Amino acid sequence: MTNQAKVLLIYTGGTIGMHRNPHTGALEPFDFDGLLQNVPELKLLDTHIETCQFQPPIDSSDMSPKHWTRLSHVIADRYDQFDGFVVLHGTDTMAYTASALSYMMENLTKPVIFTGSQLPIGQLRTDGKENLITSIEIASARDSEGHARVPEVGIFFDGHLLRGNRTTKQSADEFNAFESFNYPHLVDAGVNIVYHSERILQPDWDRPMKPHFRLDNNVIIFSLFPGIREDLIRHIIHTPNLKAIVMRTFGSGNAPQNPWLLSALKEGTRNGKVIVNISQCMQGCVEMNRYDTGFQLKEAGVVSGYDSTVESAVTKLMFLQSHYDDPEQVRRLMNQSIRGEITV
Ligand code: ASP
Repeated sequence: MTNQAKVLLIYTGGTIGMHRNPHTGALEPFDFDGLLQNVPELKLLDTHIETCQFQPPIDSSDMSPKHWTRLSHVIADRYDQFDGFVVLHGTDTMAYTASALSYMMENLTKPVIFTGSQLPIGQLRTDGKENLITSIEIASARDSEGHARVPEVGIFFDGHLLRGNRTTKQSADEFNAFESFNYPHLVDAGVNIVYHSERILQPDWDRPMKPHFRLDNNVIIFSLFPGIREDLIRHIIHTPNLKAIVMRTFGSGNAPQNPWLLSALKEGTRNGKVIVNISQCMQGCVEMNRYDTGFQLKEAGVVSGYDSTVESAVTKLMFLQSHYDDPEQVRRLMNQSIRGEITV
C-alpha cells in the first residue's frame, strides 16, 4: 500500500489556462488537457493527482455565488478521497472565491489552495508552472502525525501562501499579484518551503469538516468620498431586500459628519440593515473610537469590520445572512473571528 498523497486539481478557468484567440487576439479559456500538456513536470511529483474542470472554464470576472456553491460541492463530495485540493482560478476575483470558500468549509482539516497566474501556462515566461507545482506540494504536505500542514483555504502566488480570507489582489501586472496586508504569510517558498505553523489555523481533528452551500447575496459595497450625495445614499439605504452594506470609509473608519448621512445610516440600522465599516486603506484596522468622525458612525449602529478585507466582509455577510434572519446575530458574528478573518 502506498502512502502517496492524493490531490484533486480543480480547474475553474483564468489566465493560467487561457490561450490567444487567433481571430480576436484576446485571451480566452481552453480545456484542462491543453493546460496539463504544458506541465509535464507534474509527473515528477510524488503526488497522485486527479483532475476535474468547470465546464466551460470561465474568466473569474464571471464568478458568482452559484459557482462558489458548485465548488463547495465538488470539494465536499470528494473530501474523503483526497488529502488536499488545488483550485486553478482567475486572479481577478480569486480573493472573493477563497474568502467565500473559507466560510463555506467549517472545521476544514485539509488544504484548499487557490492559485493561477498572470501569464498563460503555455507562454515561455509564465508564472503558472511554479505557482501550480508549489501549490500541489503544499496541498500534499502532512506532518509526522499525518495531519495536513495547512488545513486552510489559502492563495498561493509568487512564492507565498496567504490566508484566503485575508487576501486582496494588489497588482494587475506584477507576478506578485496578491498580498495579505493584515496577516503574515502562512508559508514562504524560496529554496525551501517554510511553513509558519504558529500562524496556521488548527481545526478540531476529531470532528468532520462541515460544508455549507447556502449564500444570500442581498448585500452591497459602497465607498465614501468627499462630495457623496444624500439622494444616492438614501436610495441605497431604502433598497428593498437589501440586508447588508459594506461601507468603505476613510482611514481608521471615519466618515463625513453630515447630519443627513448619520440619520440615513441610523434609519438603515433601525430597519434591520447590517452596516459594516471597512477602511479604504489596505493596511490597518477600523477603530471607531479614535476620532469623533468614527464614533458617530458607531452611534448610528454601524459595526466595525476591524481589519477585514472587503472581499472577506462581503462574503462573510452572504454566508451569515443565509444562516441567520436576526440582523443582531449577524452583527454579533461580524465582530467575531469565525475563520481567522479578522484580528479582534
Ligand atoms: N481575467 C482573468 C481572470 O480573472 C485574469 C487572471 O486570471 O489573471 O480570469
